[in-house]
Parts: sequence; C-alpha cells; structure tokens
Amino acid sequence: MKYFKQAKIEDQDFKGYKNLVPKQYEEVIKLSENFSKPKIIHINTAFGSGGVAEILKCLVPLERSLGLESEWLIMQGTPEFFNVTKKIHNLLQGKEGSLSEDEKQTYLSYTKKASEELMKYLDKSSGEQIVILHDPQPLPMIMEIPDTIPVISRLHIDITNENKELGQLLKPFTDRAKKIIVSDKKFIADWIQADKVLISLPATDPFNEKNKLISKEDASVILKKIGIDTERPLVSQISRFDPWKDPEGVIEAYLAARKKIKGLQLVLAGLIVAEDDPEAQGIYDELKDKYGDDHDIHLYGEKTPPGGIENEEFINALQTGSDVVVQKSLREGFGLTVTEALWKGQPVIGGNVGGIKKQIVDGENGFLVSSPEECAERIVELISKLEEKERMGKNAKETVKNEFLMSRLILDHFKVYDELLKK
Ligand code: UDP
Repeated sequence: MKYFKQAKIEDQDFKGYKNLVPKQYEEVIKLSENFSKPKIIHINTAFGSGGVAEILKCLVPLERSLGLESEWLIMQGTPEFFNVTKKIHNLLQGKEGSLSEDEKQTYLSYTKKASEELMKYLDKSSGEQIVILHDPQPLPMIMEIPDTIPVISRLHIDITNENKELGQLLKPFTDRAKKIIVSDKKFIADWIQADKVLISLPATDPFNEKNKLISKEDASVILKKIGIDTERPLVSQISRFDPWKDPEGVIEAYLAARKKIKGLQLVLAGLIVAEDDPEAQGIYDELKDKYGDDHDIHLYGEKTPPGGIENEEFINALQTGSDVVVQKSLREGFGLTVTEALWKGQPVIGGNVGGIKKQIVDGENGFLVSSPEECAERIVELISKLEEKERMGKNAKETVKNEFLMSRLILDHFKVYDELLKK
C-alpha cells in the first residue's frame, strides 16, 4: 500500500481489567456479546507519538481481544500535505489566518487519491463494518466511502475558538459522518451537527510500560542517567514542541518559581517522532538557542531519549520522579500526559483549557492556571506544602481509576458500534 501502512501492534488481553475495574469490565463484556466480529477500521496519520497514536496502540488490540476485527491504518503523508494539515489543526485551535486555494487543493486532492486505495481495502459487501477517521487529516475521504459503511469522525482537538472559514471547509465531511465524537460539549462548533455528537473523553492504558507504577527511587536512577541532579527539585512538562503546549510560558513560570525554590530544575521533554507534526523541530531549535546555556533547563527534543533508555521508561521516570508535573497548554483536546501523571499520584498543574479542565478539579487533584505567574505560584506551593501534595496525589489516582482508564473508553465506543451496526 502506498498511502496507508497497517500498524503493527502487540496483542493485549482485556481480562487484565477484570480486577482493576470490575464493573466496567462486566459492562464491556456484556456489550461485546452483541457483536459478530465486526470490522472496525481506525485511520489516523501518526504512529510515532501523540495522544491519538497512544490511544490506538491500546484500543485496537483490546477490541481484537474482545472479538472484533479491528484494524489500524496509518495514512502516509508528504511534507506538503502535513504542512497543510498542521495548519488546519492550528486554525481549528484558534490561530489567525486562512488556507490558500492551493493549500485546500493539496488537502482535497491528496485525500482523494488516498481514498482510492482505501476503497480496495474496504469490504463493500459487508454490513458489519465501521470506519473511524481520527482528526481532520484523513476526513475528506469520507466523501468516497459508500453510504453502506458507517463512518465516525473522531475529532481529538480543542475547537472552542475555531476559525470559522475552516469550519465551512470541513462541514460537508462531518455532515456525512454517522457519528461525531468530541471530548467536550464546548467543542461542538456551529458547523457540527449536534444531534450526531457523542462526548467521550480519551483514556490511558494502565498496562503500558509508561504507566507501570515504579518507585521514586527507581525513577531517580533513570533521571540521573539523563543528567538530572536528583538531590534538587524538578519540575517537568512532557509534550510535543508545539505553540499550544506553551513551552515558553512554562519556562517563564519556571524562572519565576526558581527565584523562590533554590536549585529548581526544569525538563521539557518532547521527542520529535510524530510524523504529522512538522513544526516541532523549529520550536525545539529556537528554545535550544535561547535557553541551551542554562544548565538547569533540560530540553529533550531529539528522536530518542538520552542515555540509551527507551521512551516509555523515560516518560515514566519523569512523570514519577518530578516534584511537580505541569501541562500548561493554551488549547488542549484532552491531554493524555495529564492522565498519565495523575495515574502516578501526581497532582498536575494544567492550563485552564479544553480537556485539561475535564481531568483536573482545581485544588483537589491539581491546579488549573491561566498565566505563567499563577503557574509559578502553584509550583512553589506544591514543592513547599508536602501534605497538601500528598492529599491531592491520592485524589489524582482515583480520578483516573474511575474515569480515565481504557475500559471506560471501550465502553463508549462499543455503545456507538452497537447503535450503528443495528441501523
Ligand atoms: N509522549 C511520549 N514521548 C514524548 C512526548 C510525549 O511518549 O517525548 C507521549 C505522552 O506520554 C502522551 C502523548 O505522547 O501519551 C501525548 O498525548 P497528549 O494527548 O498529551 O498530546 P498530543 O501530542 O496528542 O497533543
């Protein structure tokens, strides 16, 4: 296949959830009995990194373990195509500007060609088939998919303040979808047919190496390997280098907090592996130029973590071993990094936006902040008030257990599959 690659993913067994969340487990099993091996085809544009890939790496094998014939196709893109789709992403999240006619053509003609290849892959005779298009990148293909195959448009991005012109471009595509899944009712823009919307929040995989519960001491061993002084406090943000993740704002907050907390160090970690994010390298290089000489600001933006360790181990050590975890986004569809840190009992300081607001209850399992100054104050508070931090950390873990494990996401998806396959 030229336009698609089939993702190679490891098997997983849903039985793992039985003891962890028995009620959700039973509900999922019951619903799965309604299905007779439907084919669910998930399509996105990145395997390397980002929240969507992270979810599919777990959702697809679990669906298979529950008897569905789920597939994950990664649509391949050219640099030209991904430059346009990243621009679409930014416009949808509220950036000023518009797409040129040429850019629109790139988007539409590339996806049209890709859809011809997709058609060969779909079984047009089978009614037991659903296609899920994740995010806007593959969305125009919906026009070519026959009406007999239900298509779900899953928009993971924060569209609270989107560019209207772009909405008009996407409207015919979402109009054709049988269901549109977004993470917040605020993301139901006026070009989205509200009666087709399901609000479903993403979720994390508790069995991923990244989420394996390790001790602070084990985390310290790894942090030392990557050059962190584990005798001194550490604040970190794990995120792609992207303007909406506000890396500059995090550095500003850190520099203010460092005036009060002696020896404070900062990590910004965003390994550059997402194929569909062409902006990251430039942002990382700029920050390196500006702050590279400050030995207490550690920027990790290569393709692999330093010290020969694996990505999962690296992220786990940072989320477990940091004194404070920050996710100071200015827009955020969901923010899986928040979920991952909460799961490890870390209260998170998050930007008061989008999906972060759905996970953090201010003062209960973290703090919501709207400026670098507020962020700096909360960093100082969490480092100096350990009892408060411990109380919030316990709540943090409970939040994820009750609402944000993959079993809950599967339940949401199965309800939709059940509804669409019955129609
Ligand atoms: N991530 C990673 N390595 C990195 C940076 C991020 O594995 O160096 C992962 C992170 O652990 C999370 C995902 O990428 O699972 C990011 O998802 P999120 O929803 O926070 O943001 P997105 O990138 O999708 O906007």
